[in-house]
Amino acid sequence: MKKIITVVGARPQFIKAAMFSRAIQLHNQTDREPVNEQLIHTGQHYDENMSRIFFSEMGITRPTWQLHCGQTTHGAMTGQMLIEIEKILLDQRPDYLVVYGDTNSTLAGALAASKLHIPVVHIEAGLRSFNKAMPEEINRILTDHVSTLLCCPTHEAVQHLAEENIHAGVYHVGDIMYDAALFFGRQAEETSDIMQRLQLHSKGFRLCTVHRAENTDEDERLSSIVAALKQIASSHCPLVFPLHPRTRQYLEKYQLLEELTAHPNIRLTEPLGFLDMVMLEKQASTILTDSGGVQKEAYFHRTPCITLREETEWTETVTAGWNQIAGYRTDQILACLENNPVRHEIDEYGQGNTAQKILELL
Ligand code: UDP
Repeated sequence: MKKIITVVGARPQFIKAAMFSRAIQLHNQTDREPVNEQLIHTGQHYDENMSRIFFSEMGITRPTWQLHCGQTTHGAMTGQMLIEIEKILLDQRPDYLVVYGDTNSTLAGALAASKLHIPVVHIEAGLRSFNKAMPEEINRILTDHVSTLLCCPTHEAVQHLAEENIHAGVYHVGDIMYDAALFFGRQAEETSDIMQRLQLHSKGFRLCTVHRAENTDEDERLSSIVAALKQIASSHCPLVFPLHPRTRQYLEKYQLLEELTAHPNIRLTEPLGFLDMVMLEKQASTILTDSGGVQKEAYFHRTPCITLREETEWTETVTAGWNQIAGYRTDQILACLENNPVRHEIDEYGQGNTAQKILELL
């Protein structure tokens, strides 16, 4: 029996892990060699809305190891994870270690395993923003350089790896988030009542998420985004804004939270479970976001997106006209809202069977 240990720690990783674990469960119902997967949860995101709801709602395997490595500086967090993950790997000696995306949990898992010569599988390999001020960019580059199997969501990601001289073990497999968008999109239609709870009409509201450190931590940038949101939200088209804990913290710090709360057409919510989030993404008229995952989900559900960053890892969404790069300036954000680019389909993300393809590769 093949033994896999998967490291998760942050919200988007729970969603990706849900799809991979599901592919393993389906595989184990066949008569082929079974796969045993166990999860390490690093505790990077740990509370009800950012972690627990994903496990209960999406049927993700309960973590065998629950670490508590959140809420500290990048270095300390990554260091603590490294120590704890290494202990588990020394004891368990899995055939593969699976990591997702670009968080500190990704890097810690990849480093711990590669030093023990345990093959690292990086799901969502090869993405680059070419902005090394982003902690995520450092995590991606380093993880890719110690990985054995690099599962790329796009051809551009394959190209980035080639430019860094990484050729072996590189596969374009499509996007596991597309698997999730299809699978949980169907479930959301049946179970989510978020439209009724927030009293929204289909295509009659906009959806916003902000959580990148570059936007939240700087007063000027966060104020400029908030100013745009206040102008955008109107009585005939309200704005729904689920608040990431970091965003709430900085909105309070810069005394911006009250302005948003007081606005009659802005609906602030706690972070949402994935089913409610998918429902809103499907039904919104426009999405404004600095999230990598949400930019793509906007396309998966064919909702136009405005990205509140200076660059994106998902350049094909921009080329295809579904995504506009606005940055943080109020006037730029408002200008993008007025645009209506020509849009076409993107043939990169696979057919919703990426998790299964990765499992085949293993
Ligand atoms: N998401 C969610 N609830 C929310 C906000 C986001 O379920 O309130 C989901 C979203 O649909 C996407 C993932 O979380 O699948 C994105 O996570 P995040 O924006 O934290 O990270 P990124 O994708 O930028 O790495």
